[in-house]
This record gives sequence, structure tokens and C-alpha cells, in this order.
Amino acid sequence: MSYSHLTFLNEDGPVVKHCSKCGCRIPVSSHYDQCKECMKKELFPKVKEFINENYDVNEMIVAQEFGIDRSIIHEWVREGHLEYKMLPKF
Ligand SMILES: [Zn+2]
Repeated sequence: MSYSHLTFLNEDGPVVKHCSKCGCRIPVSSHYDQCKECMKKELFPKVKEFINENYDVNEMIVAQEFGIDRSIIHEWVREGHLEYKMLPKF
């Protein structure tokens, strides 16, 4: 028990949140009640469809449309899951 107090404070703070789907721990600072993985599973097909149907989309538009953080969309794009149709290629 000598280190648990410090470790505890260094992690998520006193309050712990859990994903409503899989029950894994999510950051307390998260505005969502699901972890990124579950959000991805649920939203990804919709986001992909949205991008396929709309030529002129970017991270900001997608984020607004689905009410999720831009950084999440950005991550999907960076991981290669999503591709914009208007991707600038030089
Ligand atoms: Zn989850």
C-alpha cells in the first residue's frame, strides 16, 4: 500500500468512468460515456457513409455532424480507416 496513493492520483484522479458498452476505463475528462473503441465501432460506418455521400467534407464538418471530437476523426484518418475524396495529392 506504500505507492498506491500516488499512483492513484497520477492516473485518472479520484473519479473513474467506465465505458457504457464494454466497461473499460475511460478518462474522466471524456465527454462521452463510451470508450474510443466502442465509439469507433458504432460511429465509424456512419461516418464513412457520410464522407462517401458528401464530397466536400472535412474533419470539422464530420465532427459537428456527429457531435464528436475532431481529434477522434483525425485519428481515424491517420490510421487509414477514412479517406476524404478531396484529399489533396500533389
Ligand atoms: Zn468500450
